[in-house]
Amino acid sequence: MLAPKVEQLFGNKKDGEFYTIATLGSHSALQILKGAHDEGFRTMAIANRDTERLYRSFNFVDEVVGIDKYEDFPQHMSMLENRKIIIVPHGSFVAYLSLEDHKRMTIPYFGNKAVLDWEASRELQRQWLTAAGLNLPRQFKSGAEIDRPVIIKLYGAQGGKGYMFVRDPKDFEQRAGLLARRDYMIQEYIIGVPLYIHYFYSPLTGRLEIMSMDRRYETNVDSLGRIPAAAQEGLKLDPSYVVVGNQPISLRESMLAEAYRMGEDVVRVSKEICGPKGLFGAFCIETIITPDTQFYVMEISARIVAGTNLFIDGSPYSYLNYNEPMSTGRRIARELKNALLSNSLRSVLDDTSEI
Ligand code: ATP
Repeated sequence: MLAPKVEQLFGNKKDGEFYTIATLGSHSALQILKGAHDEGFRTMAIANRDTERLYRSFNFVDEVVGIDKYEDFPQHMSMLENRKIIIVPHGSFVAYLSLEDHKRMTIPYFGNKAVLDWEASRELQRQWLTAAGLNLPRQFKSGAEIDRPVIIKLYGAQGGKGYMFVRDPKDFEQRAGLLARRDYMIQEYIIGVPLYIHYFYSPLTGRLEIMSMDRRYETNVDSLGRIPAAAQEGLKLDPSYVVVGNQPISLRESMLAEAYRMGEDVVRVSKEICGPKGLFGAFCIETIITPDTQFYVMEISARIVAGTNLFIDGSPYSYLNYNEPMSTGRRIARELKNALLSNSLRSVLDDTSEI
């Protein structure tokens, strides 16, 4: 069967037949919607009362739907159900919507929701990454076990807020009061360069691409080096990991093959644990690289991450594959377009999607 033409798929912008890519107005929505617009889709931002005017001010946003709070989105889903809408999720979806909200959603959804369970649980995530052969920081069950510097990660902390550097068991004991009745994880502190690698895996072609990379700029850990160690003595300075921004980075080419292998192995194992579709679309592996050029993996994010916002105009890596600006947001829209053109939309949507 011949693939339908783009005009047949996208129809007329005014006749309601046009596919609309929709997302919540925050995180990387501008990148996603600009990419969707550039690929020929109609675009929709679901904004709250504070962000509505902002999203209206961009000419590539065709429609802004205002809701009171992002948490209310599940109550508003029915108004989108009878339209040709495809939801592209980003980091705010996991912040505002529960796993159940995600699974109840029948609006066509880019991505595989089965991955969410493996990502949301730190234990399952660790199993997944270990099975993929990635190098993970050691985990300690209790303060007494600590034999090296560690980082304490409070559950539910976001953007590195509430993380604590702990030097040894004595230091841990002194903070016991702060940790009482809280859920946390004790992880080996890896001293090295943090590198966040942004990937895109296409289920249509079976090919993995490195889209871009960034390092985060965190306060105050990234500024402690500006004060000589001798001057820090007695200041009682505690490193904190609150993200204030992202910086682009390009990796030594000799280390790229390992970065690529990590992405491939994570995708391969995901197909064994999350159903045959596995992890697809955009994802990010968060690493720290030590002086012996070993990658330690802190975390995986199974969707577009905010660090890709640096590359709305493309990155050095995406330029190698595409001689045109190709953000991760645009790459998602390109995949959806290619799926429509080859009558394989279902292969890039979660199975709960009603199309
Ligand atoms: P997000 O969900 O936005 O990715 P998060 O709250 O999950 O953030 P992480 O990405 O796990 O936070 O970590 C935040 C920061 O803490 C990292 O960028 C890094 O600087 C530091 N960090 C985390 N784990 C380690 C580790 N094992 N060793 C050293 N530093 C670490």
